[in-house]
Amino acid sequence: MQRLDETSAHILLIEDESALRLTLGDRLKKEGYAVDHAVDGLAGLEKATASHFDLIVLDIMLPELDGFAVCKRLRSRGVTAPVLMLTARSRTQEKVTGLGIGADDYVTKPFRMAELLARINALLRRVPAARDARSDVHTFGDVRVDLRATEVTRGDQPVELSSREFALLRFFIEHPGLTLSRKELLTKVWGYHAAMFTRTVDVHVASLRQKIEEDPRRPRFLLTVQRLGYKFKP
Ligand code: CA
Repeated sequence: MQRLDETSAHILLIEDESALRLTLGDRLKKEGYAVDHAVDGLAGLEKATASHFDLIVLDIMLPELDGFAVCKRLRSRGVTAPVLMLTARSRTQEKVTGLGIGADDYVTKPFRMAELLARINALLRRVPAARDARSDVHTFGDVRVDLRATEVTRGDQPVELSSREFALLRFFIEHPGLTLSRKELLTKVWGYHAAMFTRTVDVHVASLRQKIEEDPRRPRFLLTVQRLGYKFKP
């Protein structure tokens, strides 16, 4: 028996073998899922980035872009939908690699439909928890920020931030794409209620840029919005 909230889930199926894509797609639709599909890695990546899916079934051997690359790029673009990988039998390394780059589970080909459906149901049930856990880790460019562990790395090298810099970076990350005035940053990050220390914000932003931007004078992530403040663009 399917629960209503599960049956309405939207699944993206990225698989190049048309027979499997059709069989699987039909079966998922019969189970009540809304199913969209892509026939190669690049198309799958574009679809998964452009709209929301509750789950992505991702084959590893794909034309254009393999499943590993698709999964990696999805995660670095902030797509948090659970990913279920389809791996070839006996390739243990594939499973390990898949889970290491952000896949949530895998099923070995050839699989029994019942097993695949059980895994899909299990992943859909733990979506909220999985989302919470993952939302603590943010990546942009080669920078990785773990908010819960208060760890920042850049290209695998640890980045040392002061607690104020970390608080500032956290605030930017939690408000992506918004223009944040110096006054607001001071109030929210420093707790000051005066607008007289706005230079403080500039100094800290400059320091953060030194640490996380490739070219601090031409920042890609921490942008200046003329006369207004700053904006974080992951
Ligand atoms: Ca394939």
